[in-house]
Amino acid sequence: MRRKIAILGATGSIGSSTLDLVERSPDRFEVVAVTAASNSDALADIARRTGARLAVVADEAHFDNLRTRLAGTDCRAAAGETALAEAASGEAELVIAAIVGCAGLQPVMAAVESGKTIGLANKEALVTAGALMTDAAAANGATILPVDSEHNAIFQCLAGSRRDDVSRIVLTASGGPFRTAAASDLEAMTPAQAVAHPNWAMGPKISTDSATLMNKGLELIEAHYLFGLPSERIDIVVHPQSVIHSMVEFVDGSVLAQLGSPDMRIPIAYVLGWPERLATPAQRLDFKSVGRLDFEEPDTQRFPALRLSREALEQGGSAPAVLNAANEVAVASFLAGEIRFTDITRIVEDALAQASYLPPQSIAEVLDIDRETRLNVQSSMKAVCH
Ligand code: NAD
Ligand code: MG
Repeated sequence: MRRKIAILGATGSIGSSTLDLVERSPDRFEVVAVTAASNSDALADIARRTGARLAVVADEAHFDNLRTRLAGTDCRAAAGETALAEAASGEAELVIAAIVGCAGLQPVMAAVESGKTIGLANKEALVTAGALMTDAAAANGATILPVDSEHNAIFQCLAGSRRDDVSRIVLTASGGPFRTAAASDLEAMTPAQAVAHPNWAMGPKISTDSATLMNKGLELIEAHYLFGLPSERIDIVVHPQSVIHSMVEFVDGSVLAQLGSPDMRIPIAYVLGWPERLATPAQRLDFKSVGRLDFEEPDTQRFPALRLSREALEQGGSAPAVLNAANEVAVASFLAGEIRFTDITRIVEDALAQASYLPPQSIAEVLDIDRETRLNVQSSMKAVCH
């Protein structure tokens, strides 16, 4: 029996890597549903290639083109929020959640509520609604498997261990493209410089997050919800080679690490094959050419996102959702050339001052916090920039 898979965000970086693996093992996987934001041409090509039965474009303006492009196939075209949720909760057994940003929250929740196994790349969904998500997963028998390379590494290191035997986890960070940049040079860094990641090829939002180190901050919050550890038992270390993807320290002092070349197909394959392993064409590690593994203390002066994320996690309430929303708006403005690189974390810090200690009780409340924060941030950016 082939495993039925839905790929949310099929046109993106993680979506493409997933398709690459799935198409190499046609005997093991059957793609049943694929989604994209607006690129209906690319989505229709993917649906035709994979034989998916449902293709959903989030932006309804692109529905007609999608339907035209799928004419004569067995694939149904659909658009909008309800259809996205349908792709996540329909016939798939495994849902790869690779939408970027808070836009993925409702589809991920739809998958969780229908008890699916979810390969979660969309970290923003766990950051903004972590407790709601993990509670709903427990209540509905859903399984969340981490695609994010650090969390996937930890998940691999935890296999066969008792959670009580874990003393801490250590997230590794590459340090991003500005790891060695002087503080005074950061302000002038351009979007092109920010998205040129030294080790990983990724979508523009997460690449910018890697440059501010907000990505590691979001991953700290993600790790808290995935593994149930408090902030003080989750450490972050800069490891520029990106060979160790993260580590787990146990009560006896043993440390397990997962290593591999920086290729997202490795963690995605672990999720696709779990509990078995799937062969991948990823480059093998050659230790003689790796040569050395370096570790550094992260610099929270130049990269305040790390401090802000830890504060948001420790404050709880609406803070993680506010942090995420402010960051999404600021990153989009930075990529559009409207604000400077160092404005991103300044905007997030200002927004966090408005966060409340009351945790959201529902996805609707999370979306309210998200919407309100975006509006506040947009109006304060207008006031500053014009
Ligand atoms: P990407 O920008 O390359 O792709 C995003 C996908 O989401 C696209 O298919 C796009 O069409 C879809 N999408 C965007 N906005 C949408 C909306 N409003 N509604 C519905 N669909 C929408 O991004 P990516 O780099 O593949 O990242 C996807 C997620 O995976 C992010 O949460 C990111 O943090 C996480 N992640 C990515 C990597 C990586 O290597 N790229 C690694 C770890 C985690
Ligand atoms: Mg990561």
